[in-house]
Amino acid sequence: MYADVLVEIKSKNISGTFTYKVKNEFVDKCKIGIRVKVPFGKQNIEGFVLAIKNQFDANYDIKEIEEIIDDNPVLNEELLSIGKYISETTLCSLISSYEAMLPVALKAKHNTFIGMKTVKYLVLNMSYEEAIKLCKNNGQKEIIESIKQVDKLIKSDANNISISSVNTLIRNNIIKEIEEETYRLNKEIEKSNKKNEMTEEQKKCYDDIVSKKDEYSTFLIHGVTGSGKTEIYMNVIETIINDKKEAIMLVPEISLTPQFVNKFIKRFGKKVAILHSGLSAGEKYDEWRKIERKEVSIVIGTRSAIFAPFNNIGIIIIDEEHSSTYKQDNVPRYNAKDIASYRTKYHRCPLILGSATPDFTDLAKAKKGIFTLLELKNRVGNATLPVCHIVDMALEMRKRNPIISELLKEKINDRLRKKEQIILLLNRRGHSTTVSCRECGYTFKCPNCDITLTYHKSSNMLRCHYCGYATYKLNECPNCHNDDLTFMGLGTEKLEKEIINMFENVRVVRMDTDTTSKKGAHEKIIKDFSEYKYDILLGTQMISKGLDFPKVSLVGIINADTTLNLPDYKASEETFELLYQTSGRAGRSNIKGEVIIQTFNPDNYTLKCVLNNDFESFYRYEMDIRKKLKYPPYYYITSIKVASKYYEDASKEATKVANYLKNNISKESIVLGPSTASVFKFNNIYRFQILIKYRFDDKLINSLKDLQSIFNSNPRVNLEIDMSPSRI
Ligand code: ADP
Ligand code: ZN
Repeated sequence: MYADVLVEIKSKNISGTFTYKVKNEFVDKCKIGIRVKVPFGKQNIEGFVLAIKNQFDANYDIKEIEEIIDDNPVLNEELLSIGKYISETTLCSLISSYEAMLPVALKAKHNTFIGMKTVKYLVLNMSYEEAIKLCKNNGQKEIIESIKQVDKLIKSDANNISISSVNTLIRNNIIKEIEEETYRLNKEIEKSNKKNEMTEEQKKCYDDIVSKKDEYSTFLIHGVTGSGKTEIYMNVIETIINDKKEAIMLVPEISLTPQFVNKFIKRFGKKVAILHSGLSAGEKYDEWRKIERKEVSIVIGTRSAIFAPFNNIGIIIIDEEHSSTYKQDNVPRYNAKDIASYRTKYHRCPLILGSATPDFTDLAKAKKGIFTLLELKNRVGNATLPVCHIVDMALEMRKRNPIISELLKEKINDRLRKKEQIILLLNRRGHSTTVSCRECGYTFKCPNCDITLTYHKSSNMLRCHYCGYATYKLNECPNCHNDDLTFMGLGTEKLEKEIINMFENVRVVRMDTDTTSKKGAHEKIIKDFSEYKYDILLGTQMISKGLDFPKVSLVGIINADTTLNLPDYKASEETFELLYQTSGRAGRSNIKGEVIIQTFNPDNYTLKCVLNNDFESFYRYEMDIRKKLKYPPYYYITSIKVASKYYEDASKEATKVANYLKNNISKESIVLGPSTASVFKFNNIYRFQILIKYRFDDKLINSLKDLQSIFNSNPRVNLEIDMSPSRI
């Protein structure tokens, strides 16, 4: 017997399948999808078995498989085919797709042994009556009694009673020790059977989905914030698991949405596994095994949870489907939505996409009838959408209110008086975003990146938000030695100080990357705020998603212009999303919500649409622009970055790439560039970008593959191809 084994040779940056002989003793154990150790060159490396065959003729000496790693396949037939699909559609190596699909503990790499966690228990080795008779003292009796109560007693608990008694009982064979496997992640939340009666709108939506539960069909739920989408998801999932099928529920970021996850655990208890990047490798491995062993039927997780090894999927749901986190920005550059579509097709079941601000490409598909559009136009109960006001910050500057406008100040005071809560959004962390010299104009920039450094006052450091470079703030200009430095631009740290100075006795909590770097920090801030330990929650876009605080009646957008001015065709869409979603945090219960948007562009159309809660007009306006400018969804975009430590090489090779494409792909397709990438220098690497806009191009994939193989052998230049970048 022979096996085709896929291996990765890191040093040479290649991967490939090689055939090995299967020793007689391994014949029964060697299965497709397991990991094995094989000799390669002078070393033994791990690889995946992709095929097994009886015959193989070679004119060289075939080597043997050294070791079988898994008893059961870590990749089943479906996952194996998904890997091929990713490799073909995103132009990455097969092994890198498989590596991305598996938790660290199961990847085919060296030195990644993560074992099962076990717990030692004590059990009786004879009947209770016999055991009690043999006891020599009260300590021993107490241990026997304790074991009887629970059948098996955790050994460390027994040791707390009396270690010497435990040892004596074991030595005399009255009790014995057993070791059992346990799971690391054990979220204890009380299960509750309380369910809400669905509203008319929710019921209709639910019925439409369930009526097609046995076919492949994609639904887009476009429901305003607070319309009760989560409730629909849970009801659909309940129906599916009652059919003995499985459900995958994707969310953009779990640490930001503990309330969402808790709702599921409350409803479904131990049937839920959780997979996200905040878990340790051991925790992930445990959650993965719960799925594999069919101990759970629901997985909630972020992007990579789409690879959960279920084999009877009945539904996949993607919440906040517009979120860019579903697209992986490094290799393999897959989109979880595409994988979801692949898997639901494979299992012939529905795919649900849900959002208050759907991705334009998906909404366009829904409007065309490719997806089924389900709309929820009302908030649940008496809650109504918040009322918005736009404040012109140019006028406020003249009144010397550069940070908090008069109107926002007034509204904050009003809410503090009424003991209601406030959320303030500022999409920049740190204190000041630019530090420069008043005398010569010198600006502090990152030495590795083409980016200004942000001042963080609490640590007195200047930091690069791209590469993490940090340095102590100087007291004088390194250029002209003048000590008159100015701090411009506003970050969350400065805003917090400003708020504390402006409002007496205000209780404010800040949520951004700086205050949430420790595990569990997000959850604590969210919990404390929901328990009304604070009046104001201020933070970056982290606070915009999925949070549900009934006491919040005011949302302030401190500077709506930060995302509006980004040089990306999606800037308006993203601004609308961010502002609309953040606004959606206000007035979710019976208190009326208000939103104040501060901007230097009060006439901007996107902001006007946010003001009127008018997604539809915004969509039509923006689609018109996309059509004229040939952007998605009218055209596909592929981006190619040419990166090098050497400026000259990057520039020269980028021009070659552009010329190659112009000569080889369809004449209908448009090649733009090379131009400098949006962050031109990042971590000392210079990057040029070429964009391809196309509608249909059957020559594109092969041309890109050719480019890849040309560049694979060039050590000075790197080629990064993204078939559908979330940002350009
Ligand atoms: P969305 O995800 O659409 O923003 P949620 O699912 O968070 O909205 O629902 C908003 C609020 O309404 C939540 O507090 C939720 O518990 C509540 N809710 C949802 N559906 C119902 C219902 N049918 N009856 C009563 N309350 C509901
Ligand atoms: Zn940097």
